[in-house]
Amino acid sequence: KLEGLERALERFHMLNRPPMSAPPPIDEGDLRRALERGEFVPWFQPKVTTRSGLFQSAEVLARWQHPEHGMIAPVYFIGLLEQAGLIGRMTEQIMTQAIREARQLYARGLRFGLAVNISAENLPEAGFAERIKQLLAQESFPPAQMTLEITESGVMADLARSLGALARLRMAGVGISIDDYGTGNATLQQLMRTPCSELKIDRSFVNGASRRPQLRTLLESTVDMAHRLKLSVVAEGVEDAEDWKLVQELGVELVQGFFVARPMPAESIHEWVRNRHEWLHLWGKIQNL
Ligand code: C2E
Ligand code: MG
Ligand code: MG
Ligand code: MG
Repeated sequence: KLEGLERALERFHMLNRPPMSAPPPIDEGDLRRALERGEFVPWFQPKVTTRSGLFQSAEVLARWQHPEHGMIAPVYFIGLLEQAGLIGRMTEQIMTQAIREARQLYARGLRFGLAVNISAENLPEAGFAERIKQLLAQESFPPAQMTLEITESGVMADLARSLGALARLRMAGVGISIDDYGTGNATLQQLMRTPCSELKIDRSFVNGASRRPQLRTLLESTVDMAHRLKLSVVAEGVEDAEDWKLVQELGVELVQGFFVARPMPAESIHEWVRNRHEWLHLWGKIQNL
């Protein structure tokens, strides 16, 4: 009985992690020190397939584990790293660490892909695609298991100079996902020219769309267009059962959002998968009532 209570509490804490702190002002020296000390760490948010509800891959989300200020959210440091020209170093650190942590989970029998967020600043850099390919080779990580997420506004900011890197990565088998799709300003022509494999629809078109006909229409036509372009679709921001049912009905392949799981450290993934299987079993029973 006690054990049951403990597990319930654990689950409760997993779903209700304390909010990440707003940090005091950060300067370039702080960022450089954090990079040297390895304070940027990967967290993982599961994506599941709408078909089976099963774990398919995880988005890697950066967290700054600050020795004094606790866990700091990416909104406070990604922009600063970009301005300081340090974002490339952080991306490579996070990617390497995420791969190593994923491999430990593979060793325990889990199989899933990774999706890493790439800053738009990096794409036009000479040698960026080669560095990523080299990193994957060094870590013996199969390119087909890696997706790079680039925001729609980011890709379009400098499409002409980003196309080369995207094409080289795509040719190497790496997945390319257009993140926050619908909030940028890509023309359909630009989208067509971009060598991407996936559209990740922004949560503002997903969350609550079943109750709002206009959102639903936008979501539906975006999914349809993506499929006609032979792109797979991820819906982000699925927060409740209504969101889930809608995206499933519309044929979205992958789902990410609080309804499925919050971002978590790698060591929580194994337990999450176990709970997930139990939950799917119950959910299946409820659906059949
Ligand atoms: P994103 O790539 O669009 O990532 C999804 C964000 O939405 C995450 O916030 C995630 O915690 C949050 N989220 C997930 N599901 C739900 C949901 O159901 N409802 C709501 N309301 N939110 C949800 P997070 O971790 O704070 O990351 C924010 C952004 O920071 C990311 O947006 C991404 O653009 C950026 N970011 C995070 N890590 C990295 C990184 O390593 N490199 C770069 N360049 N950017 C990163
Ligand atoms: Mg993302
Ligand atoms: Mg996104
Ligand atoms: Mg987003």
